[in-house]
Order: sequence, then structure tokens, then C-alpha cells
Amino acid sequence: MNRRQVVLGMGAGSIVSALGGCAGWPSSRKRAQVVVVGGGCGGATVAKYLSLWSDHTIAVTLIEPNPQYVSAPLSNRVIDGEFALAQLTRSYDSLRRRHGVRLIADRVSSFDPDAKRVVLGAGASLRYDKLVLAPGIDLEFAAIEGLAAAHADGRILAAWTAGRDTVGLRAQLQAMPDGGVFAITIPEAPYRCPPAPYERASLVAAYLKRCKPRSKVLVLDANQDVIAMGSLFKKAWKELYGDLLEYRNHYRAVAVDADTQTVRFDVQEDVRADVLNVLPPVRAGAVAQAAGLANINARWCEVDFRSFESTLAKDVYVVGDAIQAAPRMPKSGHLANGHAKVAAAAIIAALRQQPLDPQAMMTNTCYSLVAPNAGIHSSAVYRYDSVHRSFATVPESGGTSFEPDATDAAGAVAWATNLWADMLA
Ligand SMILES: Cc1cc2nc3c(=O)[nH]c(=O)nc-3n(C[C@H](O)[C@H](O)[C@H](O)COP(=O)(O)OP(=O)(O)OC[C@H]3O[C@@H](n4cnc5c(N)ncnc54)[C@H](O)[C@@H]3O)c2cc1C
Repeated sequence: MNRRQVVLGMGAGSIVSALGGCAGWPSSRKRAQVVVVGGGCGGATVAKYLSLWSDHTIAVTLIEPNPQYVSAPLSNRVIDGEFALAQLTRSYDSLRRRHGVRLIADRVSSFDPDAKRVVLGAGASLRYDKLVLAPGIDLEFAAIEGLAAAHADGRILAAWTAGRDTVGLRAQLQAMPDGGVFAITIPEAPYRCPPAPYERASLVAAYLKRCKPRSKVLVLDANQDVIAMGSLFKKAWKELYGDLLEYRNHYRAVAVDADTQTVRFDVQEDVRADVLNVLPPVRAGAVAQAAGLANINARWCEVDFRSFESTLAKDVYVVGDAIQAAPRMPKSGHLANGHAKVAAAAIIAALRQQPLDPQAMMTNTCYSLVAPNAGIHSSAVYRYDSVHRSFATVPESGGTSFEPDATDAAGAVAWATNLWADMLA
């Protein structure tokens, strides 16, 4: 890689000074500035690979309010008590030390695509040449009457981004009496990680079978059927949990009452449970919504799949769960990591005035547990298709497990460990 090629608009003298930064990294003053919003699976990966693949000749700034990364993948295993949240927590330090990424612990409140500036929550503003938005999802608590207040006071939790609520849901489950009911409601697709609610129901059922066997798990799904690895989940539920786990389709939650621990549905009868885990509908993170970039169903951001540049704002790229995904692409951490690499390569190519990769590829594997020691997976390989201007599944790539096994249970942990290293190490 040639450093000179990515340093924009500079004469030879300024290139020398740009490469001579005093902290061991080139001075950021005259390098191309890329600002990344959000340090999750998409944003952390973009930041690392922009720096790595440009040989540190791009000044990368990552803005993320959380001091550490806490993984949503594997967080269902905190709820069933097998893992502590600390085991799913990773530092951002290597991004700074090994890759020279500048980290700002703040939240972006807005940005101006004409002036090319982002505004931070604390009020300061930052110039960019290229902006990457990776804000993940916003949970639409307001879509379910009563949920915003019940969630805020901790009585009815979603726990769909990992952290305090994950631990809170675990505590509710531990406090539930034997003979109690745990109910999880699932919104209509698309939502973050299609198999994850079914994995959560499975692991809660395994815990209850072991520790509170008179209890019950209710899976109340707004969709018409289990939307990911359905036959594998349903077979495992029947064999492993029998009457302890009951699946009901067409249950779309519209209201909750935290005093009576009841959920109301648009058509079906109300359901009362001792622990209610209500997952509201989701949409692109607020910063993308506020900028008007969520142009698909007022929820998701449309991108040019060759580069992940927004179709609405030049030099603004969107990766991860916030985008309108290509057909058959789930909202997953694995794919957020894939989007991020295609976007990083495209940004470097654009800054060097080089062509984009016409056939970018990415992969996805979703591992899920049906019990602590029994996993399943589904995987696919995607390639950019210039005719449909989208990613398409490569024929006969990937596949799905035949049956749950211990290899896939171990694979889920190995996969997550590799993802964290690829994003952050
Ligand atoms: C229970 C569960 C299990 C899962 N299991 C898997 C799995 O096994 N495999 C898999 O591939 N995927 C899994 N996922 C899905 C995966 O977590 C998401 O698809 C992935 O995190 C999406 O990455 P992202 O970068 O878009 O968003 P995130 O990883 O959520 O990152 C977004 C980041 O942006 C930050 N942010 C938001 N707004 C701002 C702002 N205005 N300014 C600055 N920062 C901001 C947030 O703080 C956050 O850190 C699971 C999800 C859940 C809930």
C-alpha cells in the first residue's frame, strides 16, 4: 500500500509532515478524516480496517458513548446464568494503541452533510471527509402502549442490547417462583438477529427445566412462524422441553400493564406472566433517523451496496443493523462486520480515486443454542450482483445443521471470540 496515494490534496512537503506525528502515528492534521459513529460490530470493524488497510494514512475517529464493548452475541447465556457479562466485555484499547484510532467517548447528536461536520452531545463539532454511521438499532418502546414507562423503571425488560438489562432479566428469572411463567414477545421481522429470541426461549427453558421444573416458557411471536431455523428449533423444543415450552404465532403485542404483568395483543387474548420479556419493533439508530437517512419504511437506511454509501447523502456511509439489508441477509453481527470491511475498502478506494471492487463478497453464520450444550447453525456466502445492484447468495454455498450438537455449541463461543478479535484486537 502506498501512503502517498491516500493522503488527499497535499503536496510532497505536507505528506512528510503528515507522516511525522509525535505520538508514533502520523499527525492527523492533514490526513483524510474519517469519522465513525458507533463502536459496535459494524463501527469498530470499520475503524480498525480503515486504519489497517490504509497503513494508518487515514485519520480515523471513533465516537462511542460506552467505555467498553459489551457483546449482544452470547448475551442470552448471561440470562440463563452460564456466562457473566464481564466475559462478553472487551476493551477499545487496541483500536487506539495498535491501530491509532482516536476514540471519543460521546454520542453524536447530529451531523451536517453539506458542511461535513458532526456535532457531539457535549456540543463540540468535528470535520470529516467521510462519515460512517454504525448506530445499530433503536428499540421503539412507544410502539407498545405502557412499555416505555415499564421498561424505564425496570419492571418489563427487552434486554436486546447487552448490558444492565441483560443482568436485570437474569435477576427476574432467578426471582421467579417454580411454577411461574416466563413470556417472550417477538416483533414482526425484520428485527436484530432473527434466531436470537428463539435461542433465548430455549436457554430459559433449559434453566427452568433444571431449576424450576413446574414453570413454563411462552413464546408469543408476531410472525406467522419461527422465522429462522424453524424446523430445528421446533423439533428441539418438542424433544427437550415438551409442555414446558409453548410456541404461539400471530401474537403481536400492542400494550403492556406492568402492575398486572399482562401483555395485550392486537387480536389474541391477553397473557399474564411472572416475567415478561417484551421485544418492541426496531428501526435504525436515532442519529440516522434524525438525519432523514432512514428512507425505507421510515425505518432503515438505503445504501449503495458496492460501497455502503447512503443513497441520500454523499460521503456518508451506513453499515450494520441500521441498513435496509439485501434480500436473505439477516441483521447480524457477522454481517455488520462484513458490511464494515466492504465499506472500509470502498472508502479507501474513493480517497485514492480507484475503482470499487465489482464483486465484493461476505459471509454469515448464525449459531444458536437449543440447550447449553447443543447448538445449531445456518450459514451463507454473498456476492455483489451488479445486475440487481444488491448482494445475492452464492448458489450452493453455506447450509444449515442437520441436528443440534455439542460441536455447534462450542462453535458459537469460538465464533464470537473470533468476531470480537476481528473487530477490536
Ligand atoms: C440476544 C442477541 C444475540 C445475538 N447473537 C448474535 C449472533 O450469535 N451472531 C450474530 O452475528 N449476531 C448476533 N446478534 C446480532 C448483533 O448483535 C447485531 O446484529 C450487531 O450488534 C449489529 O452491529 P451494529 O454495529 O449495527 O450495532 P451495535 O453492535 O449495536 O453497535 C451500535 C453502537 O452504536 C453506538 N451508538 C448508537 N448511537 C450513537 C450515537 N448517536 N453516537 C455514538 N454512538 C452511537 C451504540 O452505543 C453501540 O455501541 C445478536 C443480538 C442479540 C440481541
